[in-house]
Amino acid sequence: MNKFNLAAALEEKKIKTLTVVSNSRITPNMHRVVFGGEDIARFPADCAGSYVKLLFSPEGETSIEALMASAKPVMRTLTISGRDMAQGTLSVDFVSHADTTAPFDASQGGYAAYFAANATAGDTLCFAGPQTIQSYISEADWFLLVADMTSLTAVMTKVATLPADAKGYVVLNVTSRDDVQPMTLPAGMSLVVNVQGEQAPLLADVVADLAWLDGKVAVWCACEFTAMKAIRTYLNGEREVPRSDCYISSYWKQGVTEEGHKVLKHQDSEAQSANV
Ligand SMILES: Cc1cc2nc3c(=O)[nH]c(=O)nc-3n(C[C@H](O)[C@H](O)[C@H](O)COP(=O)(O)OP(=O)(O)OC[C@H]3O[C@@H](n4cnc5c(N)ncnc54)[C@H](O)[C@@H]3O)c2cc1C
Repeated sequence: MNKFNLAAALEEKKIKTLTVVSNSRITPNMHRVVFGGEDIARFPADCAGSYVKLLFSPEGETSIEALMASAKPVMRTLTISGRDMAQGTLSVDFVSHADTTAPFDASQGGYAAYFAANATAGDTLCFAGPQTIQSYISEADWFLLVADMTSLTAVMTKVATLPADAKGYVVLNVTSRDDVQPMTLPAGMSLVVNVQGEQAPLLADVVADLAWLDGKVAVWCACEFTAMKAIRTYLNGEREVPRSDCYISSYWKQGVTEEGHKVLKHQDSEAQSANV
């Protein structure tokens, strides 16, 4: 999107400008930023769980003036964690993944993480979207939901729609045990928490160690790129789960900014399509 297009997008209301209402640390490694403002009315009541693109200037600024002055905004993808129609707000939960005590360095990225660490009431942020994400297939004997810190919000909205008699697993890869947010699971669903650390197993190994259940499985998995590929290989390969029964996506890649991840994701998707 160039300078002209950004202006047009703002004019056409394709880009929404929201204002920070509050910013709090909801768990040790997650910031919740609550937004309000006039454009909030453009977000539907059921948008929690959908993703948005947040716009930054290349220097990490978020004001309209800074965005208009830059040739091309930097975009970051986040999930809406809540929409409060009565309060006229929506919230986004940001993983605190960077050392934000060091000055922001555009060459290292961290736009979203720095924004969340520093956002204060009155700051503005431009949003594109929301876009809905794919769900799990509903006709299944059991469910396997896998998430890490970045997809915690998304998986929680998926858990909320599971049938009451659902059985299976919700597997979470988190930075600390306290990063698991309260969620109500159907009685037949087991919560498996893997706390990252040098001694901790890889997420793919945690998934492979689960007792495999009988019947057709519905898979919903979103996590880091390398972990995603290992989980996909296990499920589609060893377990022969048809691809059509799986939503498996990467949300980020270790050591690569969102721009680099996007390129790798595209290459991976082309390789997968060629492999059908
Ligand atoms: C559909 C979708 C929904 C998403 N929803 C959310 C969400 O609700 N909340 C959320 O926090 N993220 C979410 N993500 C992931 C988020 O887009 C990426 O983590 C993004 O890279 C963060 O941008 P950044 O500017 O902070 O870091 P970047 O500038 O993209 O990256 C800077 C450096 O930080 C590293 N990095 C990025 N993310 C992480 C991480 N989580 N842990 C450790 N290192 C990291 C990169 O590998 C890179 O080395 C979502 C992604 C997708 C595709």
